[in-house]
Amino acid sequence: MKVYKFGGASVRTADGVRNLRKIIDDEQNLFIIVSAMGKTTNALEKVFEGIQKGNQKLSNEHIAQIREYHATIISDLWHGPKKLEQVEVLFDELEEVCANTVYRAEDAELWYDRIVAYGELVSTTIISEYLAYAGVPNKWIDMRKCMRTEQRHKDAEVNIEKSKTLLQSALKESDATIFVGQGFIGGAPDGTTTTLGREGSDYSAAVVANILNAESMAVWKDVDGVLNADPKIFPDAEKIDELNYLDTIELAYSGAQIIHPRTIKPLQNKNIPLYVRPFGDKLKPGTVIRGMSAPVNVPILILKKDQVLLTIRSRDFSFVLEEKFAGIFSLLERYRVKTNLIHNSAINLSLCVDNSWHIGEAVEALRDAGFDVMQAENMELLTIRGYTDELWHRYACGPQVFVQQATQATVRIVRKRE
Ligand code: ASP
Ligand code: MG
Repeated sequence: MKVYKFGGASVRTADGVRNLRKIIDDEQNLFIIVSAMGKTTNALEKVFEGIQKGNQKLSNEHIAQIREYHATIISDLWHGPKKLEQVEVLFDELEEVCANTVYRAEDAELWYDRIVAYGELVSTTIISEYLAYAGVPNKWIDMRKCMRTEQRHKDAEVNIEKSKTLLQSALKESDATIFVGQGFIGGAPDGTTTTLGREGSDYSAAVVANILNAESMAVWKDVDGVLNADPKIFPDAEKIDELNYLDTIELAYSGAQIIHPRTIKPLQNKNIPLYVRPFGDKLKPGTVIRGMSAPVNVPILILKKDQVLLTIRSRDFSFVLEEKFAGIFSLLERYRVKTNLIHNSAINLSLCVDNSWHIGEAVEALRDAGFDVMQAENMELLTIRGYTDELWHRYACGPQVFVQQATQATVRIVRKRE
């Protein structure tokens, strides 16, 4: 069995879906994981915001747009006006969820998951139906029933052991050799829908690969493979042919948008190679990520955007020492604030964290706990692995640099957004 994952950008048009069909043309024993088409997840976040604000009209407008967008793709795929019953049912359900939800702030994450999951439910339904229509028999898998997650919404972790039994029995029921399942979504022990964090489809695919002992997993993307920098931000980006798991985790953690950070562990545990391949050209080899690989010999630049720099100090001027660290971090964990860089001096602890929903509450709680907290917004975190003198001078110096942390191989820079 192989696992292929197709991201939203790849299947954002009917041509993309037709190309997916070409890519899997001569495959058998394949599990296909698909994300929501194009920017559908962002649009569904807007639907959720409508509910959050008590603005039903706003939600409905967004649903109508999302419906329309998918209807266009369907008609293009079937060469004429066409409605897919299953897709209609899903959109009706979504409308109903929005109409009937009595929003309570403490359930925000629950409703968020319930709503955004429709992106993947719709995309996989279309793709599964289209493949059947185009002569590729397959089975649609409801990952809400097979990916058992922890009881946590919006950023859930998968319980691989529990999911194993569920997924295996779902596959056994069928004599298909090609399966189509949603990335990004799962189900909690209480039966509610969960999501695995934005861009979580890679992680879904890796869990499936682990459970099915896949010979390999491939992520099909709109780039030639893993590049040493984001070409939109850094010109002269180059493709890397091979990477090992460890470097990949470091890169993903630093914010490289190659792969969701949780993806590697399930693969590494079973020693499954991961290919990052160009969706536009299936003859190109892309990048392979596996246990052993040749060392990377170009500097790697990773920019993590939308960061906040928190500078924390005890109000009584006592040192911020280890015993305080534990309290600070467990408080941040409670508010789901993700820390990306830690820098401490005698009296200050500086943390570069992802900007997130609960950051304001976390800061309040820290203040209540006796700390002064300074909050610098609009920051970004630049990580350079294998930096050169030239890169150092270009990026690690200057008035916009707030924190700079270097080891022999890597420098990390917290800077004000340009
Ligand atoms: N559709 C989800 C997102 O856009 C998951 C994914 O693309 O991996 O975040
Ligand atoms: Mg997506």
